[in-house]
Amino acid sequence: MTQTQALMQFSERPPPTMVRGEGIYLWDEQDRRYLDLVQGWAVNCLGHSPRVIADALAAQATRVLNVGPAYHNQPAHWLATRLSALSGLSRVCFACSGAEANEVALKLARKWGQLHRSGAFEVLTTRDSFHGRTLALTSATGKASFEGAFPPAVPGFRKVPYDDLEAMEAAISGDTVAVMVEPIQGEAGVVVPTPGYLRGLRALCDRKGILLIADEIQTGMGRTGPLFAHQSEAVRPDIMTLGKGLGAGVPVSALLCRAELDCFAPGDHGGTFAGHALLCSVGLAVVEALTEPGAALERERTAQAFEQLLHRLAAKHGLGVRGRGFLWALVLPQPRAAHVRDKAFERGLLLNAARPDVLRLMPPLNLERAQLQQIEQLLTAVL
Ligand SMILES: *Cc1c(COP(=O)(O)O)cnc(C)c1O
Repeated sequence: MTQTQALMQFSERPPPTMVRGEGIYLWDEQDRRYLDLVQGWAVNCLGHSPRVIADALAAQATRVLNVGPAYHNQPAHWLATRLSALSGLSRVCFACSGAEANEVALKLARKWGQLHRSGAFEVLTTRDSFHGRTLALTSATGKASFEGAFPPAVPGFRKVPYDDLEAMEAAISGDTVAVMVEPIQGEAGVVVPTPGYLRGLRALCDRKGILLIADEIQTGMGRTGPLFAHQSEAVRPDIMTLGKGLGAGVPVSALLCRAELDCFAPGDHGGTFAGHALLCSVGLAVVEALTEPGAALERERTAQAFEQLLHRLAAKHGLGVRGRGFLWALVLPQPRAAHVRDKAFERGLLLNAARPDVLRLMPPLNLERAQLQQIEQLLTAVL
């Protein structure tokens, strides 16, 4: 056994230790195989241990591992160039976790408020949202369980009901500098807003002269279909954050913004590992894999097949279905999601119980036809 009391535990986990992964599968110490629909929490967009990432890591590790923040490195510039071209947001800053990228977004919004909005600082977020676990983001997050945790709360945030444009408009005050939303609320259990919500927020922010921040840490990098979820509404946020899928399993995250918003002065921001050569070389390999010719079409076909599979299961078992692309929820008629997750685990299927009545499915974006059949068989048996 490799497990020890020395490692702090933040949540309950099943007993086995995972030792190996390949594509959609994980293996434990007993060499038991699991079909993994959690994939590192919507992180492994290319599945477990993809060849392209191993190659990128090996190539960059032998070239130069770490140049540090004092000097330029190639992968950071290459990845910034690719991401800005793909998003139309022409300034990019890197970090190592989603929370860190969101912290940069908040700092940038507050700095911009100081310079251009007479000191406006407040960021409106939404109920049930998830933005990260730093002190500030615990305060920004709309999860009920974060309310009152680690007092005193960091000031400057207010929560508004999700998918409610009127409530958002009513909440905007002279102190408000930005609205921060997830295009689809992931941790809340894959909550998809009414079509037009993002477009409405865009118009509202334009009218009020405040910033729209899209937290695409979960929805970005093809997870919901298009490379970035906001593209499905043909709008562009002022600031976008990426994490999870950007490194496909390696911790790299990014903030992207319009050039005019790049108002940090020297010393305002930084980070020992910000724009790390090794991490950015992996991000670049991920972007290349997701944007190679034919990849988007292939993803669309696979996502459609996955959606149809879920609708078949839902019809058979009386469940609700919601989601987009490769981010889905099955809504159970009873609050038994944890039980179903545990039964699935016994059968070698990994699922996430996002809510008492919600199973969340986050397959890799390159899952294969034969695997779809296997998923259907396993889910049918479990349900
Ligand atoms: C996961 C997540 C975060 C936090 O990312 P970390 O890498 O865990 O810090 C922030 N926002 C959203 C929408 C997420 O899904």
